[in-house]
Amino acid sequence: MSRNSPEREPAAGWEVDAAAAATESLAAEAGEQLGVDAGAAGEPERPEREEQPKAVGRAPSPAPRRAPEEGDARVVRRLPPAPPLVPPRPAARALSQLVKARGRSRGRGSRRSSGSVRPVTVDSSKARTSLDALKISLRQLRWKEFPFGRRLPCDIYWHGVSFRDNDILSGQVNKFPGMTEMVRKITLSRALRIMQNLFPEEYNFYPRSWILPEEFQLFVAQVQTVKDGDPSWRPTFIVKPDSGCQGDGIYLIKDPCDGRLTGTLHNRPAVVQEYIRKPLLIDKLKFDIRLYVLLKSLDPLEIYIAKDGLSRFCTEPYQEPNPQNLHHVFMHLTNYSLNIHSGKFVHSDSASTGSKRTFSSILCRLSSKGVDIKKVWSDIISLVIKTVIALTPELKVFYQSDIPTGRPGPTCFQILGFDIILMKNLKPMLLEVNANPSMRIEHEYELSPGVFENIPSLVDEEVKVAVIRDTLRLMDPLKKKKEIQSQQVEKPFTSKEDINCELAGDSDSPEAHLPSICLKQVFPKYAKQFNYLRLVDRMANLFIRFLGIKGTMKLGPTGFRTFIRNCKLSSSSLSMAAVDILYIDITRRWNSVTLDQRDTGMCLQAFVEAFFFLAQRKFKLQPLHEQVASLIDLCEYHLSLLDEKRLCRRGRPHQRNPPQMNREAQSAAGSSAPQIIGASKLSHS
Ligand code: ADP
Repeated sequence: MSRNSPEREPAAGWEVDAAAAATESLAAEAGEQLGVDAGAAGEPERPEREEQPKAVGRAPSPAPRRAPEEGDARVVRRLPPAPPLVPPRPAARALSQLVKARGRSRGRGSRRSSGSVRPVTVDSSKARTSLDALKISLRQLRWKEFPFGRRLPCDIYWHGVSFRDNDILSGQVNKFPGMTEMVRKITLSRALRIMQNLFPEEYNFYPRSWILPEEFQLFVAQVQTVKDGDPSWRPTFIVKPDSGCQGDGIYLIKDPCDGRLTGTLHNRPAVVQEYIRKPLLIDKLKFDIRLYVLLKSLDPLEIYIAKDGLSRFCTEPYQEPNPQNLHHVFMHLTNYSLNIHSGKFVHSDSASTGSKRTFSSILCRLSSKGVDIKKVWSDIISLVIKTVIALTPELKVFYQSDIPTGRPGPTCFQILGFDIILMKNLKPMLLEVNANPSMRIEHEYELSPGVFENIPSLVDEEVKVAVIRDTLRLMDPLKKKKEIQSQQVEKPFTSKEDINCELAGDSDSPEAHLPSICLKQVFPKYAKQFNYLRLVDRMANLFIRFLGIKGTMKLGPTGFRTFIRNCKLSSSSLSMAAVDILYIDITRRWNSVTLDQRDTGMCLQAFVEAFFFLAQRKFKLQPLHEQVASLIDLCEYHLSLLDEKRLCRRGRPHQRNPPQMNREAQSAAGSSAPQIIGASKLSHS
């Protein structure tokens, strides 16, 4: 399979000696410590397919506002449509034989054949490029696929691109409303910037970024200030168009006054970001990591991380950026879709070689060099949880707008692709989040000019099928039913994981033939360590409460006034007239920069800015996050009193504990406030 593999010299200190067997035990070892146990490396071997290559010079740039699925456009243009059923490939065949043998020996196996349980139904009609991996997963699970949709409702709808693909009124869909918008480069940068303002230390895993064109002057000024303070500083910046993907339109600059920026400023919104100049290299090559993260539920927040991911390598040895190499894309950009066009791209014939490898094989190799990979994993887990915490507030606003409480609608889950780079000092840095990570398990091979053949990719299939299959296992509606039942029996399961284990371990269980689940829960498992960061989430709850009309995403002036009044925030120094001016001022500014012009009014980010302003006024001389936490406590306290009064008026006396408040919020609330419980960090309910 290594058709164009050049002889590569391993970089000093990095011998290619990582045994595949060691990968397995290593991932297990790292996982045990961090809650990410035995890696996907432990799964049965399956044949390979590949991600869609970028057709340089052939594919048009994606339309600015489309929701791209990585590699999507080119599939439609150049590939024949995916066959309705994937022909069995060697390893899959072996697996299915094993499954059949087991089925025979037990005389049952599938839910259908047991006669008592109906199979889970999945509508795959909109699965697009994830169809092949989905089909394999469904076969392994023995679930029922509806490739052309179904008149009756299905349990699960698998969408290739967005939540908006269909009007679904029940079941579960694998997309959240608003996710595509939330992870666009500009929106993600904004969400992370809010968190960086509140918690600069905790959110230093995202490179300093500016939004163009609106922050161009700020960018120039801030760079100049740092240069004045440190004349030896020679930064490089990477410019990424907001609508781009797969490295499309990306370029590097050394100087904020670079002429190429002028074009970007006039034509396309973009993010300009500090370039990570010292990445960790393997075989002298830069690489990044694609990790799969399952957002299982938004409220309550549930996050799972796949135990294995992919590492994508550059194809030209790395040098720190200088004016001569700035335009060398094969040196600086790790995108598979770009590097596949390099003559030096090596198609992998194992998980630990070539230009695309499993992440576990990288960890294995690092471990053999003495790197503390448990620390690397725990840093990555922390990065993922913090990033999701930054995204959830606005996602909640989208969710209540698309599926308002009380109206029929599906529940949602979503697999996200996190692109992470390890710095030389092993610190993980977030590059971006993909709402539609490519789930293709094959790649195109150019047999002769213009003639392409689809070739399976072992590495992709190994990682991606496990992610899809185990996502489905976690979302299994029948298992959920069993969970509910189990809560009613005498000896309840201690956790959902116990149920998964029980189901997987029980020889009568329909999952007995499957490997252990490759997705590991990290939230709420580590909630205690991260809950103090969820301030914007609590602000979003306040925001949603005052939105008023169902289906809207923006707060009107009356809603904002009611918020101020109900939370008792106006005073002699903050009149209602001043509140109105604050509303108009901030709302107008935000509406001029945000892309979403659907409703008029105050968006969540504008509300957050107004909230910061109010918090700073009320609780002076504290760090911002404490000011904000104090104000949230105060608001929650007054609202809980209001709720109690309302319940009493309706003749339903209701016993509830008002929220715990920190010292500042308590004194601001006056003598009626409850006793001090602890610091605001711990006060999140
Ligand atoms: P796209 O969605 O177009 O792939 P990314 O943000 O993932 O955009 O950037 C493309 C590639 O550029 C990444 O895979 C990575 O190799 C490189 N890259 C992006 N941001 C940085 C950065 N701040 N420092 C160094 N390299 C970066």
